This record gives sequence, structure tokens and C-alpha cells, in this order.
Amino acid sequence: MSDLYCVFGNPIAHSKSPAIHAAFAVQTAQDLRYEARLAAVDGFGQAIAEFVAAGGKGANVTVPFKEEAYRLATRLSDRAARAGAVNTLVFDGPEVFGDNTDGAGLVRDITNNLGFSLVGKRILLLGAGGASRGVIAPLLAEKPASLIIANRSADKAVALAQAFADMAPLGGGSFAETAGKSFDLVINATSASLSGASLPLPPGIFAPGSLAYDMMYGKGETPFLTLARQQGAARCADGLGMLVEQAAEAFFVWRGIRPGTAQVLAELRAKLVA
Ligand code: NDP
Repeated sequence: MSDLYCVFGNPIAHSKSPAIHAAFAVQTAQDLRYEARLAAVDGFGQAIAEFVAAGGKGANVTVPFKEEAYRLATRLSDRAARAGAVNTLVFDGPEVFGDNTDGAGLVRDITNNLGFSLVGKRILLLGAGGASRGVIAPLLAEKPASLIIANRSADKAVALAQAFADMAPLGGGSFAETAGKSFDLVINATSASLSGASLPLPPGIFAPGSLAYDMMYGKGETPFLTLARQQGAARCADGLGMLVEQAAEAFFVWRGIRPGTAQVLAELRAKLVA
């Protein structure tokens, strides 16, 4: 019997994770199956219990269950504890190990795939939700010159900056408070692009040579990347690479083998633009 893995979410039908992990399994000759499983919004714990009873070895967790997975884990990796959210679970007897590979995926996409070093860079992180929280520590580990968090609800950005103040002096505030500053990397970790909304960013935030990175991805250019291009960002990237890289990191956590990502990413990109 192949080892069984899955991704839990709600909704989940359009998840790309089964295709990504199937490709990783073929590439690394690992005998595993990976499914997408819909969990009821109030039924995540039960869905996990059923999956474990059916022999499930591990799972990815996506919206809206990452915080619940964090609470459900009996043991956490340091990066999951810092993130306050779990996107990767490992089931081992009575133990439920929770990890978070989102931040590692983002950093790997930016530094390896896009060839953009974060050392000494000025970073602006837009958004103060789960995705933002999950990437702060991995970004800081790359030794940027500064990291400022800006959010529609400014108080949440301030609170997030305070939560990581032991790692580095961070700034936190509203979008308007970024006026007069410029950044080498601007990351959109808001869900504004999901609804097609544009962010009220002051002009001048994109420094010469800057990279604009939207965690969101889709068929066309996201509203954030359109704005970034118009405001002079030198390079634009969406979050498809982050998706593939966080999956590769989860695969490594489960199987101890790190799959190559370039071909899987190229195939997904080709399907997305088709
Ligand atoms: P949350 O719901 O936890 O947070 C949403 C954030 O977006 C909040 O900061 C919220 O601000 C802000 N926001 C929502 N709508 C607007 C708007 N119209 N204008 C300005 N700000 C807005 O979501 P997550 O943090 O979990 O996810 C954020 C994004 O990251 C999603 O698009 C998700 O798909 C993407 N993501 C991509 C991944 C990848 O692998 N590529 C991995 C993880 C996430 P406020 O606090 O004011 O409400």
C-alpha cells in the first residue's frame, strides 16, 4: 500500500497540491498517494481523525484551517511556533507534529528561483494576516537591512512588528505611513488581489531595481503587480513559485528527500497561462 498524504482546506477542489506532489513522487521514486480533502468549516478535527484512522501519514493544511492545525498539533517546529500557524502535519502514532513551510517556500522562491538576495535589502511586507506572520522570521533570517509591515488595519501591523521585535527592530503601521520611504522588495501578503482590489500605496515606494512579489497567483497579472509595474518596480513575480517551494519543503519534511522544483513550476506556469 502506498503511503497516504492529503491537503485539507475549504474550498479545496482547485488545489494544485495533488498535481505538485504527484510530480514530486514520480521524480523521486517515492511510493505515495496525495489527495485533496474537503473538511467542513467546523469539522477539521474530525477530518484529521478520520484521515489518521485510514492510515494517513501526513497532510498539508490550507485556508481556513492553519491556526486550528497549530492548536491541534502535539509538537511544533520552531518555525511553526513562531508563525502561530501550521501548513504541514506529520502523523506518527499519537503524535501530531506541526510545521510551517510557507516562509521557507517564499524565501527559496525569491533567492533561488528569482536570484534576488535579501541580504541588506529594505523590505516592505503588506498585510498582517496568517501569511504575513508566517514569513517574517524566515525573511529576517536572511539579514535584510530593514523590514516594515503595513496593513489596512494599522494596529494589526503594529502588533505583528512587536511580536517579532526580539529578532530585529521592525516597523509597523498603515499603508499611508510608508509615504516618503522606498524599498528594494515589496511583498503583497494581503488577500486584496483575491477580490480584485487595489491597495492604496503611496507613489515612490519602489526603489530602482526593486522586486514586487505578490503571494497571490492566477491567470493574468494581479492588481498589485499591475500597480507595482506602473509605479516603477523593476521586476514582478507572483506566488506560484512560493506554492511549489512550500510543497517541496513539506515533501522534504515527510520523506527526507528534497525534490527539484524547476520543471514542476514550469509545467504549472504553462497550464496557468494556457
Ligand atoms: P488572512 O485572511 O489571514 O489576512 C488577510 C490580510 O489581507 C489582512 O492583512 C487584511 O487586512 C488584508 N486585506 C484583505 N482585503 C484587503 C483589501 N481589500 N485591502 C487591503 N487589505 C486587505 O489571509 P492570509 O494571510 O492567510 O493570506 C493572504 C494571501 O496570501 C492570500 O491571497 C493567500 O492566497 C496568499 N497565500 C499564498 C501562498 C502561496 O503559497 N503562494 C501561501 C499562503 C498565502 P485587515 O487586517 O485590515 O483585514
